[in-house]
Amino acid sequence: MRVSRVVAVVLLVVLAAFGPFAAQGTAASTAAPAGPLVVLDPGHNGGNASHPGVVNRLVYAGYGRFKPCNTTGTATNAGYPEHAFTWDLARRIRTILVAHGVRVLLTRASDTGVGPCVNRRAQLESTRGAAAAIALHADGAPAAGHGFHVCEDSRRPEGATAATQRRSARLSRLVHDALAARSGLVPSTYIGRNGYYLRDDLAGLNLSTNPTTFLEFGNMRNAHDAALLSSPAGRARIARAVASGILAYLGR
Ligand code: ZN
Repeated sequence: MRVSRVVAVVLLVVLAAFGPFAAQGTAASTAAPAGPLVVLDPGHNGGNASHPGVVNRLVYAGYGRFKPCNTTGTATNAGYPEHAFTWDLARRIRTILVAHGVRVLLTRASDTGVGPCVNRRAQLESTRGAAAAIALHADGAPAAGHGFHVCEDSRRPEGATAATQRRSARLSRLVHDALAARSGLVPSTYIGRNGYYLRDDLAGLNLSTNPTTFLEFGNMRNAHDAALLSSPAGRARIARAVASGILAYLGR
């Protein structure tokens, strides 16, 4: 090959790679990779109280035990209901996660429906490929106590491997620590230890096959917690804390 031809070939190769007609890459190499999937389970539902026949039906909750399909949840003394709190909080968390490229599945579509039952929520938390699931609740306890707590399964969850249980513990710890650092809520003063509480009656924890945690964000009967949970600014602060814990778990 003559030198001038070599130069021409090199020029063509450079133009092909970097020039105006350079290929933009294949679809496979340019498509954004799908982000991780997180399931958010806002506790209860706005229509539960008017459908006792549906929500009182017994469903399987793990370890051979049955419990009501769903419950109405609690409320502040001023009447702000837990189902409205969890619904608003879930959407705030979703907005933050989606902005970080995380896909989010909510276990209910509105705050006016009924259920779904706790075993159905556990099924949704077990969605194949979901990286994490978080159940969102608030407590209704004697007024003097306040603060958040993370419920953890006191046994090996029926649906989970030991490795999944370890991931659940890590997810719980990261969300717990983010809440303690920046939500305005303190670890519970009235239940569990340092914001952790072991129980074995929660279908979501017992039956989910994915890393799962269950949050009680405060005592709605306590004046301090009720003020925080009832205010949009308070819920925005809690949502930012929860989302940062989830994002830390996801390594994003
Ligand atoms: Zn609840």
